[in-house]
Amino acid sequence: MSIALARRYRPRRFADLLVQDHVTAVLRGAVARDRIGHGYLLTGPRGVGKTTAARILAMALNCAHRDADGEPCGECASCTRIWNGSASLDVIEIDAASNRGVDDARDLRERAMYAASEEGHHKVYIVDEAHMLTREAWNALLKILEEPPPGVVFVFATTEPQKIAATAAPVLSRLQRFDFRRIGPTAIRDRLRAVLAAEGLTADDDALTLIARHADGGMRDALSVLDQCLSFGEGAVTADRVREVLGLVGDEVYAALLEAVAGRTPAAIFPLVERLMEAGADLGEFMAGAGEMLRALLMVQVHAEPDGLTESMRELLQRHATRLQPGDVLRMLRLLTDNEPAMRRSANARLVVETVLLRWTMLDRMVDLERVLATGVGGVSPAPRAPRTTPVGGVAAATGGAVPARRATDQPPAGPASPAPAASAPAAPAPIAAIAFNRDSLQEHWADVIAAVRSESRFLAEALAGTVVAEVAPPALSLELTEPNPLFLERLEQQAGVIEAVIGRAVAAPVRLRLAGAPVAVAADPRTRRISDASIRADRLKGFRAKDPTLDAAADELDLEIVE
Ligand SMILES: [Zn+2]
Repeated sequence: MSIALARRYRPRRFADLLVQDHVTAVLRGAVARDRIGHGYLLTGPRGVGKTTAARILAMALNCAHRDADGEPCGECASCTRIWNGSASLDVIEIDAASNRGVDDARDLRERAMYAASEEGHHKVYIVDEAHMLTREAWNALLKILEEPPPGVVFVFATTEPQKIAATAAPVLSRLQRFDFRRIGPTAIRDRLRAVLAAEGLTADDDALTLIARHADGGMRDALSVLDQCLSFGEGAVTADRVREVLGLVGDEVYAALLEAVAGRTPAAIFPLVERLMEAGADLGEFMAGAGEMLRALLMVQVHAEPDGLTESMRELLQRHATRLQPGDVLRMLRLLTDNEPAMRRSANARLVVETVLLRWTMLDRMVDLERVLATGVGGVSPAPRAPRTTPVGGVAAATGGAVPARRATDQPPAGPASPAPAASAPAAPAPIAAIAFNRDSLQEHWADVIAAVRSESRFLAEALAGTVVAEVAPPALSLELTEPNPLFLERLEQQAGVIEAVIGRAVAAPVRLRLAGAPVAVAADPRTRRISDASIRADRLKGFRAKDPTLDAAADELDLEIVE
């Protein structure tokens, strides 16, 4: 198999383009009725057939044996040359992503003046990655499109039309736009099956499902993954081989994860993540897969039919559909998406992933805790903990002690404003004395600010307590984290508005919050580098517990130390 499948099976006729009928029908009709425009914009995700459609259009316009429906023959010399992308007098392909592309575009104006090579032929310019063209290049193109030479057609393909709108709005108005669709997993699977049959090869259904899911709507990607799988081993392509090629995590790991969540066993998370690390899995991919799984689980729970599942995954989700509440699954998804930026940015992605997974296993307890913490601010009285509404097995019995009692000792006094509001009434924001809008004054009254924020959100106040006023240049107020903490940073970013409002009231002026202090890795600390893996993990857990009050309290309740 010397020629790549993606190339060998690239469509030669409009009718062979998957899923994009809404586009091809119009283009084919325009060719058949000889009503072709001068400029087209083809948009859509990568690998869905934009460039292929452009070439088929060029083939159709220049084919001697075009049929009455506007389809090119796909076989004649002209068609073959264009399909191959090899030198053709009538079709010029420009890759706007390369420097050459920009120069070419500048040069276009002159070149477009030359007529097509033969009477009745069209000169077609295909500009790929068109969003990369410079403003100058677009200006040159605009001049051509305002007075297009006869027989000249421009086809622009792009994955990012919004960028073109930003740099070349006047050009856009002269183009006919077609939006290509993502190709669904079922269509991709069917196509892969057809290709395999034509090659005399076979693959398991699950293998094709995995490839289709990974390709994420792109046929070209799907075919090249299939190519890799074929060159990687003999015989039918199996799901395991696909996982190996793509570095995917097996369904059994996801099964273990769901089991840990449904069984509320945080202890299972550490070995699970350890396993992933040892297998060299990409944690980002793993979490993306976990997100897909939760989404599919939700669909099963609301009796919709999720697509693109392997048989084992389908069975797994059926089993857990009633063990987890849809509300919980939604909250898990939210935790996941809330932490996605931190996962990407943090040099210690493992820590963030562990945190998210731990939280998943503690969901119902966290609801409880939030309630306890929201009412028992500042350790006023460890209000008699009402009998739990959620049964948590032996866990509560194991620790028994009241969480707020411990917190009271390591929590700085909450400041004058804090004891009063709280519990029942969603009280008016805590009053805060007037503060001058400068650094000294804010620093002096920082505890009051934290206290006032605490009356709106205890968790936000915790994060704010980890900051210092770095700079004040009204309306800008820059805060700096005293030590790197991705969770704090994220919380501050998400709820900046609350802080702005509280401080704004105190300084009687608008406030724009700026946050400094990137969430750098725990491991960057030279001290931690020298110690063993095990103690790093213990340290990390301790450090993490100290920095995140929610988990800290949850960990107390669960005796998380034992876990390690
Ligand atoms: Zn032809």
